[in-house]
Amino acid sequence: MMLRIKRVPTVVSNYQKEEGEEGSRRGGGCGRNCLQNCCLQGARLPLYTFKKVDRIITEQKDVFEHDKSEPPVAFLNSLLLGEWEDRMQRGLFRYDVTTCETKVIPGRNGFIAQLNEGRHLKKRPTEFRVDKVLQPFDGNKFNFTKVGQEEILFQFGESEDGEVKFFPDATIDAENSPSVVAINVSPIEYGHVLLIPRVLDCLPQRIDRDSFLLALHMAAEAGDPYFRLGYNSLGAFATINHLHFQAYYLTVPFPIEKASTKKITTLDGGVKISELVNYPVRGLFFEGGNALQDLSNTVSDACICLQENNIPYNVLIADCGNHIFLLPQCYAEKQALGEVSSELLDTQVNPAVWEISGHMVLKRKKDYEEASEENAWRLLAEVSLSEERFQEVNALIFKAISNSGNCSGTDSENVLEDANVEHTSLEEVNAINENSHSAMVTGSPGCLVLQ
Ligand SMILES: [Zn+2]
Repeated sequence: MMLRIKRVPTVVSNYQKEEGEEGSRRGGGCGRNCLQNCCLQGARLPLYTFKKVDRIITEQKDVFEHDKSEPPVAFLNSLLLGEWEDRMQRGLFRYDVTTCETKVIPGRNGFIAQLNEGRHLKKRPTEFRVDKVLQPFDGNKFNFTKVGQEEILFQFGESEDGEVKFFPDATIDAENSPSVVAINVSPIEYGHVLLIPRVLDCLPQRIDRDSFLLALHMAAEAGDPYFRLGYNSLGAFATINHLHFQAYYLTVPFPIEKASTKKITTLDGGVKISELVNYPVRGLFFEGGNALQDLSNTVSDACICLQENNIPYNVLIADCGNHIFLLPQCYAEKQALGEVSSELLDTQVNPAVWEISGHMVLKRKKDYEEASEENAWRLLAEVSLSEERFQEVNALIFKAISNSGNCSGTDSENVLEDANVEHTSLEEVNAINENSHSAMVTGSPGCLVLQ
């Protein structure tokens, strides 16, 4: 069975066009002032370097230990928003997101609805399979090396000398493939940007430890609880197969951030893992850790496990990098298998990380006007794995985490016991693991798709 996304809901860059459509050639380079060899010669972009932080102090309001000599934590925010507003002045966005209507839906969860008709698009440029979470990078398809340099806000990387630094006009070191922050030309909120790790290395949409740590550093540097980063895997509504995180500011709590949690276990590195309770999408919640890297490694290893088992997922990084939500999902597969009601399909809402976190971006005025907690809940419930499948997937995750040394001194059996998944023996876990590599769990109502 071959499942494909025939339509892609949004355009994230002004250079994301049908293949074969060439920009007009003028002056030097290809004429688009892109990030490829044709245009990189002599190119310059601002550069922000962050200091590697070692500790998270979860009890305190100021999240990180900063020397008094350092620039205020707010600096990254002002840089990001200043550059973002500059691009808005220059008319680089496809619509003015500040005019999109938004409301909080009455009810216990406080879902947020936005009417965003501008995001709806007739042109559907990319096509790739939705049944494979990992796919090789394809340089012929749209990727972020094809965006115009004016869409890039700044380069973002770790400081070489341990100090926060800002260079307003730095060269682009192509040899070392900088990570960059770019605008999303179809924003869903104020300050909507993309973080593209090592952009010139052309990494496919796939979490690795270093890239995830970079995203956590960005959340920490921003130091603003209203600034969250999100990640969508392929098969969970990522639309570009080039490694990227999204981020934006929303000045109200996301419903997922207010959801109750039930503790599963605390790992040796201090990372506490819980399960979401009374939330329409089943998911894991990670917090704590003796160092930022503990939290980062644990979550990235969980993501890597899901990827390798071909399970689509979304990640939300909240609370300045202290709180991370991991949500395996199965909507695209259900959709492809014809198991989603036409009522839900008609809304054309793609439940990616923001929707799953409770920020519903609606394309039709009708849906916006009729938005209710019940409707939001109904959509998100379709996204969630079943309880049985969720526990199977958790068993895979805990096995992966324990194998990768995040809980030295605790063998995987103990973690599984801690994890309250006593219905799954280790043998069964192994069996699931092996079966999942062939992307099929016999007898499971889960969401892996036959290949
Ligand atoms: Zn070029």
